[in-house]
Amino acid sequence: MDALKEYTIPIKGLGIGTHHFKFDLDKTFFSHFEESPILDCKLKMELMLDKRPEMIILEFITAGTMQTPCDRCLEEIALPLQGEHQVILKIAENAGEDDNLIVYITQALTEFNVAKYLYEFAILSIPIVKIDEEGHECDDEILAILDRRGRDKERDESSNPIWDELKGFKDN
Ligand SMILES: [Zn+2]
Repeated sequence: MDALKEYTIPIKGLGIGTHHFKFDLDKTFFSHFEESPILDCKLKMELMLDKRPEMIILEFITAGTMQTPCDRCLEEIALPLQGEHQVILKIAENAGEDDNLIVYITQALTEFNVAKYLYEFAILSIPIVKIDEEGHECDDEILAILDRRGRDKERDESSNPIWDELKGFKDN
């Protein structure tokens, strides 16, 4: 992951206490991840790092927009993304990972790459329904066309001869 080296935090060198990092994520960042649902975007990720003697708490705050078709009218929109996610690094004898949110690190670890978490938490910040009530007004004409198409499709399916045949078969 050499291309993502800039997302490495020198955890060993940090003093006890809170530290603040900022990352700008754009399409170049997401191009490193295969099948990324985010292609183009303008995202800012803040990382609040709280270093304690036994653990390091990483709080990621996502803010910005991604380019995507509107779920209602299919027009390209800049969808707002917002999220807050946490990862805890715990000092342990053996390195390992527990359900992604607790990562065990050894005392000897000097740096930690957060690219994977920046990616995952950006993706988790995508709303299930991609509409932007405040910034985008759906095109009424397109909505009317899509609505008409949906109804035509329903009617076609209900009068499909194969379905009629199957229905007849079931009745017998
Ligand atoms: Zn729309």
